Amino acid sequence: MSNFLHARHASLEAYVPGEQPTDQKYIKLNTNESPYPPLPEVVEAAAGAAALCHLYSDPEGKALRAKLAARYGVEPAQTILGNGSDEILSFAFQAFGGPDVPVAFPDISYGFYPVYADLYGIPKKIVPLREDFTVSADDYIGLGCGMIVIANPNAPTGLAIGLDDVARICAGNPDSVVLIDEAYVDFGARSAVTLLADHPNLLVVQTFSKSRSLAGGRLGYGIASAEIIADLNRMKYSINPYNINRMTLAAGEATLDHDEVCAARCAEIAATRAYTAVELRKLGFTLTDSLTNFLFARPADGDAAGMYAELRKRGILVRHFSGERVREYLRITVGTREQMDALLSAVREIQG
Ligand code: PMP
Repeated sequence: MSNFLHARHASLEAYVPGEQPTDQKYIKLNTNESPYPPLPEVVEAAAGAAALCHLYSDPEGKALRAKLAARYGVEPAQTILGNGSDEILSFAFQAFGGPDVPVAFPDISYGFYPVYADLYGIPKKIVPLREDFTVSADDYIGLGCGMIVIANPNAPTGLAIGLDDVARICAGNPDSVVLIDEAYVDFGARSAVTLLADHPNLLVVQTFSKSRSLAGGRLGYGIASAEIIADLNRMKYSINPYNINRMTLAAGEATLDHDEVCAARCAEIAATRAYTAVELRKLGFTLTDSLTNFLFARPADGDAAGMYAELRKRGILVRHFSGERVREYLRITVGTREQMDALLSAVREIQG
């Protein structure tokens, strides 16, 4: 820390991304990326756009937003693009929270939520998950917050709530924005986009990072009422109007042109997830019923830290969190069948 950092940030604990080591070749099952590269058409579109990089990108991302709007049956004015969905989350915390207006989210969820709250000086209303790691809609009624944020499915638990519960939370907090973070929705859960017409306080956030093989392209989006989107744009145009570069805009459009390939890949990952869960259970692991592209798995002895270290030695990276309620679990990204077989072999070897 330098002497120059403002005192308000002195105790800020920044988000720690999953490691991306280069010391050897790893099987990367630690950051929930897709194991499948972008389609050649997507790479080609991005390369073509690079040739025009002397010109700024379209700050409105009009062409891509029109395609997204058509895909989800909403108006283009109901959409906004982010440099990853992280940026949409950042805009939302800034827009709807404040020093006197708390934001609510579960105690076990995406680690960035408390970071944004702390960075922007927003009080946190932390709502504990139930003992079985589920979100109970009853715990989110009448919270009196500026915004409620729920990842659905949740991370790192992989568990989803139903749309009836999302609707109940929206109806139970008419004066709060309800942000449903659907980073993992394409792997088996249902999107709340269909609730938008009935719930003007709903903001759905999705990403191209997981189900559309574009984590390194950094592309996310929000869908909500035109008014909520205007609020988010107020943030965007006060921070970084050209937030999506030309290559990523082109890659996003080309990806949407092949959405059926992405859907097939998601189905493949869901099948591999089911296979891996069965095999891990045979090896004594306890797992939640994940609807995402990762598994939340507890080894029989609860020594997840030890298992993480042993897997790492064998060139397999998974994610371990040290939080009290989750430290006996590993979060394991679902890769290809071959990658999961390598993981299972390594676990068998570790178990002796
Ligand atoms: N929400 C959740 C729940 C996540 O796990 C992630 C991935 N780290 C994100 C949002 C952000 O993803 P991205 O910025 O790559 O869209």
